[in-house]
Amino acid sequence: MNAIRQHLIDPEICIRCNTCEETCPLNAVTHDDENYVVDAEKCKFCLDCITPCPTGSINNWRVVDRAYSLEEQFSWDELPGEDDRTPADSSDDSLSEANELEVIEILDVAHSGQGGRVKPPFSAAHPYINLYDRGAPVVATVVGNYRITDSNFESDVHHVVLDFGTSFFPVLEGQSIGVIPTGTDASGKPHLMRLYSVASPRDGERPGHNNLSLTVKRVVYEDAGNTVRGVASNYLCDLNKGDKVQVTGPFGSNFLMPNHAGANILMICTGTGSAPFRAMTEYRRRHMPFAEGKLKLYFGARTPEELPYIGSLNKLSDKFIDKQLVFSRLPEAPREYVQDRMMSESSELLELMRSVETYVYICGLKAMEQGVEDAFARVSEEGGENWSDLKQQMMQSGRYHVETY
Ligand SMILES: Cc1cc2nc3c(=O)[nH]c(=O)nc-3n(C[C@H](O)[C@H](O)[C@H](O)COP(=O)(O)OP(=O)(O)OC[C@H]3O[C@@H](n4cnc5c(N)ncnc54)[C@H](O)[C@@H]3O)c2cc1C
Repeated sequence: MNAIRQHLIDPEICIRCNTCEETCPLNAVTHDDENYVVDAEKCKFCLDCITPCPTGSINNWRVVDRAYSLEEQFSWDELPGEDDRTPADSSDDSLSEANELEVIEILDVAHSGQGGRVKPPFSAAHPYINLYDRGAPVVATVVGNYRITDSNFESDVHHVVLDFGTSFFPVLEGQSIGVIPTGTDASGKPHLMRLYSVASPRDGERPGHNNLSLTVKRVVYEDAGNTVRGVASNYLCDLNKGDKVQVTGPFGSNFLMPNHAGANILMICTGTGSAPFRAMTEYRRRHMPFAEGKLKLYFGARTPEELPYIGSLNKLSDKFIDKQLVFSRLPEAPREYVQDRMMSESSELLELMRSVETYVYICGLKAMEQGVEDAFARVSEEGGENWSDLKQQMMQSGRYHVETY
């Protein structure tokens, strides 16, 4: 039986502000005296309504065997359960829809640290999203694949360049793409796609070319005495020039850089979390090298040899970007993490945090999130500011963004 994905509005949270109905380009959103609802026959999942919704009530999805009608939705006091109308076999035919749903869920988890959905910066360019899905991916060609961490060290991170030829695949700094590894999983089903942040600016890894780069860390770990290799990261790290890759996306409509030159961009990352910041920094370097807004980067790694892009980062002048490279495993030095460096220069950081021109981005492993958040709270407290108020203000104005995985 075919499964379909249905977009629904949570009647318990919706404040009936009409924003979704005004935003929808297809008139798929409508309302009666009780509820705002989405017409499954009209909705094409453009997601234009998602970001403007002030409550997040718009961001609800179900995989169902038959769509809930408008009448049914008008009668709801609450959303039906996740499995109320899920078909027993929702696998093959529905792969495409289920996969889009999965991307939304993956991104929701990745962005959960910012405390909910936030707006993009007011000056961000409008992103294209969901142009290609699992059912109809775009095929890219590998034009480069280089290890960018020292081969004597454990961390194996690759810079992978994909070319899209004549296919339309526009991306913005901060967006991600989906990669579908070849082959099947243990149960014989095609592998799920994995998301990877775009590491190059919108005009290409090579300016003016229809290509982009990714920063991929090879995942290898021990499990019950066995060495396990991550499916997609190893697939990507082992690709050769000329290989073809199935790509979906682009994805992501709020972790985007401000376009105006007055914006300060405060970037905090570890490991491959540097990918979107390479893209943003390179965009500024190419197009606004003398912008009045500051660029500041806190970048944590165990050692300099394991810090992706350290060579090119070191070439950027201190005038252009304030780089705080922080290492936790230097011989004969105390362990230092990004949050420690944030604390040790708290007055400068506080000044930036107080500016309405400052846009904060945190990216990397989930494990870094709490430490960074705590550092923000302590810096605020020491400066007499209330961090939760400040964070709230930043979120409401599209100035606080977290993407961790
Ligand atoms: C928005 C977003 C952007 C992302 N951007 C990037 C990026 O730019 N670069 C990048 O490299 N990755 C990025 N990722 C992560 C990426 O999508 C994959 O999750 C990652 O590459 C692992 O996929 P895999 O197929 O290699 O591993 P899988 O085959 O999926 O295996 C990973 C599994 O291994 C487990 N695991 C991983 N490490 C260990 C360990 N040390 N010990 C025990 N278990 C472990 C995990 O819990 C998971 O179950 C991003 C994720 C998101 C959500």
